[in-house]
Amino acid sequence: MDVNLVLRSTRVITPEGTRPASIAVSGGTIAAVLPYEAEVPAGARLEDVGDDVVLPGLVDTHVHVNDPGRTEWEGFWTATRAAAAGGITTLLDMPLNSLPPTTTVENLRVKQEVARAKAHVDVGFWGGALPDNVKDLRPLHDAGVFGFKCFLSPSGVEEFPELDQERLATSLAEISGFDGLMIVHAEDPHHLAAAPQRPGGAYADFLASRPRDAENTAIENLINQARRLDARVHVLHLSSSDALPVIAAAKAEGVKITVESCPHFLTLTAEEIPDGATEFKCCPPIREAVNQDALWQGLADGTIDCIVSDHSPSTADLKTPDFASAWGGISSLQLGLPAIWTEARRRGFDLTDVVRWMSEGPARLAGLTRKGAIEAGRDADFAVLAPEATFTVDPADLQHRNRITAYAGKTLHGVVTSTWLRGERIADNGTLAEPSGRLLERNN
Ligand SMILES: [Zn+2]
Repeated sequence: MDVNLVLRSTRVITPEGTRPASIAVSGGTIAAVLPYEAEVPAGARLEDVGDDVVLPGLVDTHVHVNDPGRTEWEGFWTATRAAAAGGITTLLDMPLNSLPPTTTVENLRVKQEVARAKAHVDVGFWGGALPDNVKDLRPLHDAGVFGFKCFLSPSGVEEFPELDQERLATSLAEISGFDGLMIVHAEDPHHLAAAPQRPGGAYADFLASRPRDAENTAIENLINQARRLDARVHVLHLSSSDALPVIAAAKAEGVKITVESCPHFLTLTAEEIPDGATEFKCCPPIREAVNQDALWQGLADGTIDCIVSDHSPSTADLKTPDFASAWGGISSLQLGLPAIWTEARRRGFDLTDVVRWMSEGPARLAGLTRKGAIEAGRDADFAVLAPEATFTVDPADLQHRNRITAYAGKTLHGVVTSTWLRGERIADNGTLAEPSGRLLERNN
């Protein structure tokens, strides 16, 4: 065991709990989690972070990088710098909003080539399931995508059409044939079409246009399809807490379903969104405080498996003050950890819960067996956090391309003091190293 680095802290979050420890790193891999006082092996460098907490690097499985094709919205250079600054060491890129979308192997190769030299953190790719690309799903799976995203209602970009129930069944059957995973934007188009559509700047009108029933119905239909086909499905960005009992029942029954929610649903409320403030627009929408309370209950009881950003930026000109026509998407890649930690601590949770939701859970979802925990044999990926330190969000400090965020002006707990990828420090108090991220492929 040729240890080259020992990272020491009074508070290391391991699968067995939080304890003082010295993490021995060899060749980018965690060689051992040793007692705090362990002697530093000859030739190894000691990095003592004092009382700052060492977390496993966060895994964000829901990021829209939009590169190539809509790089004025975001790109691999800026998105992965934002990730590194925010304690995220692995991100998975969504298949849409880039041109081309990740819907064929050829398109995947184009995206990988673009990402390769720009990745400051490890990057993997989801594929996309469209009405006309069933034949491409298995080749994409064999090429290493982590699963397939589909929409059940219009996606917002014309090159990525949604699946109706029949086509969903066809794609799900194909994907379950190779034990793949389908990840689903679950809003029912018929409920959306039936909802009142009033354009303008009033948030209440926008909220009424994306009702909870649209989510609830889409999720019920998805559960029925997953049960019938014995398929693995994942609900993206759950906002409607009304769906939690149905999801919990499906899980208890053995349906292969997992669920994520996002920092904005868990830390921001409809009541506080000013009219015209379309930096808060996303689909499904941010709902009422009482809905948020129920989502936290869903996290506490395990119905919700993970928290990921759904970072989906655009240029400022697309964030018009009209909620109906503004681009839908919230930029939070760099802020997810402090945003969630701030709310979690207020609600009586601790950082081991945050690690379960933001590191372990997403790593398990994606089958990333080398990520998501601080234990021997995993990659030496760490986020070092000063949990009681506070900062006020200044968009000028953000690394993503268009510095628009729903969190501007908020005071948050938890400052990421450094981020480590395979034993190398990639962010140090906001200063970022040169890119050293790798492109990941599904490893089973
Ligand atoms: Zn998304």
